[in-house]
Amino acid sequence: MDATDEIIRFDKVTKRFGGNTVLDDLCFSVAPGKHVTLIGPSGSGKTTILRLLMTLTRPDEGTITVDGEYLTHEERRGRLVPAGEKHTREVRKKIGMVFQQFNLFPNMRVLQNVTEAPVHVLGMDKDAAEQRARELLELVGLGTKCNDYPTRLSGGQQQRVAIARALAMRPRVLLLDEVTSALDPELVAGVLDVLRDVARTTDVTMLCVTHEMNFARDISDEVLMFDAGRVIEKGTPEKIFSDPEQDRTREFLSAVL
Ligand code: ADP
Repeated sequence: MDATDEIIRFDKVTKRFGGNTVLDDLCFSVAPGKHVTLIGPSGSGKTTILRLLMTLTRPDEGTITVDGEYLTHEERRGRLVPAGEKHTREVRKKIGMVFQQFNLFPNMRVLQNVTEAPVHVLGMDKDAAEQRARELLELVGLGTKCNDYPTRLSGGQQQRVAIARALAMRPRVLLLDEVTSALDPELVAGVLDVLRDVARTTDVTMLCVTHEMNFARDISDEVLMFDAGRVIEKGTPEKIFSDPEQDRTREFLSAVL
């Protein structure tokens, strides 16, 4: 694949916590606009990948590239050196994340939750940010809730605000970490429907960690199966879910499906 066809690239990334090698010489890349799902047993390193992309943690070895730029490194006089805070912050602006816990600002109304970062981090004009926020809240089915406080909303509605808030930063990449696992079962479908709409109507690249295999099956262009910090198999959802090559993938799927 040509480098310009990659929005995310992990090149020989190793991450250890103490003596525990969580990611082991990991290489993978994601093409712009694609929807890629990471599956695999608990503890296989999926969330660590998202945390590395958010620079909440740093790789021990290897490099991560976002939209053609090194995330945690920069080139100085032809040499690759650890990046300064400013460089990392700029590259990270291309990435948005939705967490298991919605982490909305409880003291702000829904609309302000969505406009806060565009205005204060991107320096966007307040009226333009509000107009965009209203459009996004419409997209997630909450056009009528702009003036409510988050505590008035259900968990599913709060998570939909969190999705609108992430998209308001116009990220090139949206990271989704088990976004339905903190929700009551009856609220899961609404959030997944919103994400299907986002996938269909925007050009944002999505990297999802999920246990919702049906969602993974119908949203993904590609599924990566992880085991012990490596990608052991990847392919279209049709291939991975119906005809996996690896015994380990088959075992995992038969335990979760
Ligand atoms: P997954 O998302 O696939 O369940 P994780 O990426 O959350 O896996 O975790 C992979 C491994 O890394 C686990 O063994 C976990 O205990 C360990 N781990 C993750 N974060 C930390 C941390 N901050 N300190 C120590 N160990 C960690």
